[in-house]
Amino acid sequence: MTEIIDGNAVASEIRDDLTAAIETLADAGSRPGLATVLMGDDPASQTYVNMKQRDCEEVGIESHHVDVDGDAPPEELYDAIADLNEDSEVHGYIVQAPVPDHVDYRDVIRRVDPIKDVDGFHPENVGRLVAGDARFRPCTPHGVQKLLESADIDTEGKDVTIVGRSDIVGKPLANLLIQKADDGNATVTVCHSRTDDLAAKTRSADIVVAAAGVPELVDGSMLEDGTVVIDVGVNRVDADTDKGYELVGDVEFESAKEKASAITPVPGGVGPMTRAMLLYNTVKAASLQRDVDVEL
Ligand code: NDP
Repeated sequence: MTEIIDGNAVASEIRDDLTAAIETLADAGSRPGLATVLMGDDPASQTYVNMKQRDCEEVGIESHHVDVDGDAPPEELYDAIADLNEDSEVHGYIVQAPVPDHVDYRDVIRRVDPIKDVDGFHPENVGRLVAGDARFRPCTPHGVQKLLESADIDTEGKDVTIVGRSDIVGKPLANLLIQKADDGNATVTVCHSRTDDLAAKTRSADIVVAAAGVPELVDGSMLEDGTVVIDVGVNRVDADTDKGYELVGDVEFESAKEKASAITPVPGGVGPMTRAMLLYNTVKAASLQRDVDVEL
């Protein structure tokens, strides 16, 4: 029987576990605060921001929001970032990607105070992660690790193939999984659009993580029996639904399920975990800034 790993259930447990730490911080005089910054009015980004605000409310984190006009010069966004760096009620914040074309996202990230960088994208935090001393694990890779842990899937000694080498998913996940750590110790192959014979790389893996942004790229024919399959992809494809689209992953679920020992669905797999780990990082950021020890 293939195990369907329920990201909603695991995320809910993580949120429950955070509430004690949040109340400890509130009792110590400062409820954790997370801010979202949105430049422009991309509807998908707006939806993500709304969900993050709702998540905060649910667990007792103060949520703040800053809108920046999509046509504004980059300096306007930089000013908003400078204000958030100074705001003692905001312990962590994220600048929702993508930003408009006339703004360089890397310039944006470099301006975020690393201690408030709950996405974990600032070069200082990337460097710490690579050095095995992560302050904030990026939310999606951390969520993937937590999903594996929840399903009792040990990564030690396993061959893991990651499809995708982005700065937010593939690269940090590869770095985390090769760490000399209980939730690492894997042997990792990272694939990308220039990889020769992708199917050979996925077939040789014990665990496949698909994060390419290509609908249903990985199907059952590319997997050996018993593979663990984690689908990070979220893709809108045209469909005869009220919204005119449906969400599909980077894995062709039905055929992959036939081969997999465990698999995450889309939606309801990695997505809720990414959101939960953002709350986790916000609590950690508040704990570090307030110098109040909490159990995480
Ligand atoms: P990017 O577009 O930044 O990176 C995609 C990566 O996949 C690139 O490294 C690219 O290679 C590689 N790739 C593209 N096509 C192929 C192919 N045919 N074969 C092998 N590799 C390929 O995407 P992200 O990492 O930001 O996101 C990946 C997916 O995950 C998206 O669907 C996104 O929506 C989703 N996502 C989901 C999250 C969640 O919480 N569930 C969070 C973040 C992302 P190259 O480098 O050569 O271009």
